[in-house]
Amino acid sequence: YLHALSRSGVHLDDFQSKAVTTNDKAVLVVAGAGSGKTRVLTARTAYLIHEKEVDPASIMLVTFTSKAALEMKERLMKYPDMTKSIISRIVSGTFHSILYQILLFHEPDKWKRTNLLASNWQKELALKEIGTELGIDMKDFPIDAALQLIGAWKNSLQFPNEIKPASDWEEKVLPLYKKYEERKHIKGLYDFDDMLVGGYYFFLENPMILETYQNRFSHFLLDEFQDINKVQYEWIKLMSQKAESVYAVGDDDQAIYAFRGSDPKYLLDYEKDFTNAKVIYLQNNYRSTNEIVAAANEVIKINKNRRPKKMAATYSGGNPLLFYPYDEEEEATMIVTDIVEKIQAGAEPKDFAILFRTNTNSRAMFERLSSSSLPFRLEQDSGSFYSRFIVRSMLAYLKLAVDPDDQHAVSNLLPTLFLKKSVLQDLKALSILEDCTLADGFAKIKTGFAFQESKLKKMPAAFQKLKSASPIDAIAYVEKELGFQDFMKKRGNEGNQWDKGSDDLRDLKVVAKKFSTIAEFVAYTDHMIAMNTELKKQYQDTKNAITLTTIHRAKGLEYKTVYILGTVDGSIPHEYALEAYRNSDTQPLEEERRLLYVSMTRSMEKLYVSIPMHLRGRKAKTSRFLNAVKLADLPKDEI
Ligand code: ATP
Ligand code: MG
Repeated sequence: YLHALSRSGVHLDDFQSKAVTTNDKAVLVVAGAGSGKTRVLTARTAYLIHEKEVDPASIMLVTFTSKAALEMKERLMKYPDMTKSIISRIVSGTFHSILYQILLFHEPDKWKRTNLLASNWQKELALKEIGTELGIDMKDFPIDAALQLIGAWKNSLQFPNEIKPASDWEEKVLPLYKKYEERKHIKGLYDFDDMLVGGYYFFLENPMILETYQNRFSHFLLDEFQDINKVQYEWIKLMSQKAESVYAVGDDDQAIYAFRGSDPKYLLDYEKDFTNAKVIYLQNNYRSTNEIVAAANEVIKINKNRRPKKMAATYSGGNPLLFYPYDEEEEATMIVTDIVEKIQAGAEPKDFAILFRTNTNSRAMFERLSSSSLPFRLEQDSGSFYSRFIVRSMLAYLKLAVDPDDQHAVSNLLPTLFLKKSVLQDLKALSILEDCTLADGFAKIKTGFAFQESKLKKMPAAFQKLKSASPIDAIAYVEKELGFQDFMKKRGNEGNQWDKGSDDLRDLKVVAKKFSTIAEFVAYTDHMIAMNTELKKQYQDTKNAITLTTIHRAKGLEYKTVYILGTVDGSIPHEYALEAYRNSDTQPLEEERRLLYVSMTRSMEKLYVSIPMHLRGRKAKTSRFLNAVKLADLPKDEI
C-alpha cells in the first residue's frame, strides 16, 4: 500500500515508513514541527485498513481541533482506494466530540444540548450566584481565573473532597468549585469539562459497556499528544486495554495548553504506562525552508525543559525576515501591501496566515483587512475588539453623550459605577415620570449612599462636557474624572486578575486619536463590530481566504507565507509570563517560547517577523526570544 501511496504523491521517507508499518503495541512518535507526524498518522490509518484489513469502524483517530479532524479526512480522501464510506466509518474527532457522541447515545436525556452550560458567561453567572450564597464578596472576585483553575482541576481529575489547597488562592476557589459541581448536579446541567470527566466515569461505572467498546476498538491513533491532559490520558488507557495498538504522535516543543491542564509529562509517562512502548523519531522537516527550520531551532533550543531533537530541512533557502514598522497601524498596512503585491504576482489568499498572540493584538490588522477587498477569515476566541469588556464600558460613556437614550450603553455603563443591572429599569421609569433622558436620569437615582448619589448628580453635566470634547480628551476625562481608573483597578477585564484591561484601553486611545468628534468615533466602532459579524458570515465558507488567527488556533496547520504580529516583549512573551519570570517561575516563559516556535514553524516558504517600534501608544522592545537568533532585517524595498 505504501508504494501505491507513494505513486499517488504521498511519499514517505525511511523513518516515516518504519513509523507507519510498525507492529508494536504501543508507539510514540516524537518529532519536531513539520516532520510529517500527521502525515504518518493518516498514512497509518489507511495502511491499517488496506494492508492489515482492519475494519475502519474499529479505528479511533483523535485530533486536537475539529478543523484538524476535517483536514485529516480531506487528506485521507486523496489516498488510493479510499472512499467516503470507508472514511465515514472511522471514529474520528476531538476527545470532546467523540466522548460526547458516546454519552449522547447512552444517556440522551442527561446530555441534552439544552443542559449544556455552553458559554463562559453562563458559568460566570453560576459562580457569581454561588459565591454570593457562600458569603463571598464577588464584586471584585477574579471569576475568570477561578473558572480556569476549576477547569484545570477537573481536567486533572482532582475532585473537591480530595484537594489540599496549595495556596491562599486555591483555598478561596475550592469551596466555589465544590458548590459549582453540586449545583450543576442538582440542576441536571453539565459543562464542556464534564464531557471528558463524565465520559471517563461513565465507563468506569459501566464495566459491561466499557467492555463492548474495548472489544470494538482495536487501534487508537492520537495526534498532538503533547497537549493531552490527565482525564484524556486516563480515558485512552482505559479504553485501549484490549487494543492491538495505541499510536501517539507529538512534539514536546509544541505544548501550549498548560493553562488548560495539559501536561507534556504524559509524553514521558507514556513509555512507562504503556509497557514496551516504542519511541520513534522522525528527523526530516518537509514543511519549511532550511533557514526557517534553523531559526526556529535556535529559538526553541534555549528551553531547558525539553527533549533535544535532530531536525534537518529538506528544502533549501528562504530566510525568515524581520521588519520594524513604526506601530501596529503601519504593521498592518505593510502586511496588506505585501499581500496585495504577492497576489498580483500569482499567490492566492489561502497561502497567507497572519498570527497574533492575544486578541488585542489583532485589532489594527483586522481593521486594515476589513477596509481592503481581500478575503480573510478571523479565527479568535472572542468577538470584536470593541465588544471587549473594558472597551465597551468606556465606549458606553461616549455613546450616552451622543445619544442620551441609548439603553444598550446604559447597561454597559452601570457596572463601571458599581450599580446593579436593574438600575436600567429605574432609569426607564424615571425618564417617563420626569420626562427626561436616560442620561439625565442618573442624577435622580437613589442608592442610599450619599457619596454615590453625589457622584451620580454630576453625571448629566459630565455627559454634556463629553459631547463637545475630542474622543481622546473624552476618554481621558472619563478615566480621570469619572472614576473609570478605579473601576479598572478593581474589576479588570471581566474579573480577570491578570488582565486589567489597560492594553485594551491604550489601544482604544490609538484609534480615538484618528477622529475629531466622538460621534464619528462611536459610529466607527459600531461599524467595526458589525463588520466582525458580517465578515465572519461572508467568508465563512470561502476556502480561499487569508487566515488571521491566534497562534493557538494555528497549531498543526501550515501556510506558504506567515506573518507574526507584534513580536515584542510583553506581547510574545506575554506580560504575565514576564511577571512570573520576575517571581522566579520560568515555566510560563518556556511556554511562550514554544508559542513563538509554533508560529515560526507554520511557515513553508516565507516568514516575516514583525517588530513594531511602538505598540498601543508606547515604545516597544524586540522580543527577548529573538536575541538568540541571527535573523536578517528585511531589505528596505522588499515590503
Ligand atoms: P506539526 O508538528 O506542525 O503538526 P507534522 O509533524 O504533523 O507538523 P505534517 O503536517 O504531517 O507535519 O507534515 C508537514 C508537511 O510536510 C506537510 O505538507 C506534509 O504533506 C509534508 N510531508 C510530510 N512528509 C513528507 C515526505 N516524506 N515527503 C514530502 N512531503 C512530506
Ligand atoms: Mg501535525
